[in-house]
Amino acid sequence: MFNNNLNCVIYLFSKGNYYLKGTMELKIKNSILRLEQGDITKQTVEAIVNAANSRLAGGGGVDGAIHRAGGPKIMEGCKKYNGCPTGTAVITTGGNLPAKYVIHTVGPVYQNGTSGEPELLQSAYLNSLKIAERNSIKIIAFPSISTGVYGYPIKEASVLALEAVVSYLKKDTLIERVELILFCLKDYNIYCSALKAVSKNSFQ
Ligand code: ADP
Repeated sequence: MFNNNLNCVIYLFSKGNYYLKGTMELKIKNSILRLEQGDITKQTVEAIVNAANSRLAGGGGVDGAIHRAGGPKIMEGCKKYNGCPTGTAVITTGGNLPAKYVIHTVGPVYQNGTSGEPELLQSAYLNSLKIAERNSIKIIAFPSISTGVYGYPIKEASVLALEAVVSYLKKDTLIERVELILFCLKDYNIYCSALKAVSKNSFQ
């Protein structure tokens, strides 16, 4: 039912320094789920997802990086909406980004894990995928929602994120590829461990 491939690309620098850049892929029915370390603003996909705030006001972290790289057209698009409640998603142009669209979603601020955060986090992923599907987007990239300023512990958040995406791709979908773009190697490795656990539970 699925193939699990682990590929590594080695980037060499002068002075003999190097680091490993990995990608990990899981095939789920007709779609691919890919983990990759990188900068989401540079992804050549149809849509990237923004970890926005509920006022769609822009901010720091990945939100700031997306608005800076994509330019003012993205904020113009955000202003057409009356905000975005936690767990929901809206879509705008990608402005100057390589991606044609930005899907803005709002993850929960982590409090203690028992205030509905898991459900809200999964809703953020699922509603982003639904908006992508409604807009005929076949390739979409997510950052790790809520695990920066919003403080969601990444080990828990990575399992919830991947469970949500895997459950979505197991249904009939026209989405061909979902990428999780992890900004640093540490986060990428945590997501790799989570994907191994989630795929074991989902497909045994
Ligand atoms: P939140 O408020 O939802 O926690 P943040 O932007 O603070 O959102 O962080 C979410 C995740 O996005 C963090 O893991 C952070 O390292 C990551 N991140 C920040 N900039 C980028 C980027 N350019 N590309 C991909 N991920 C990024």
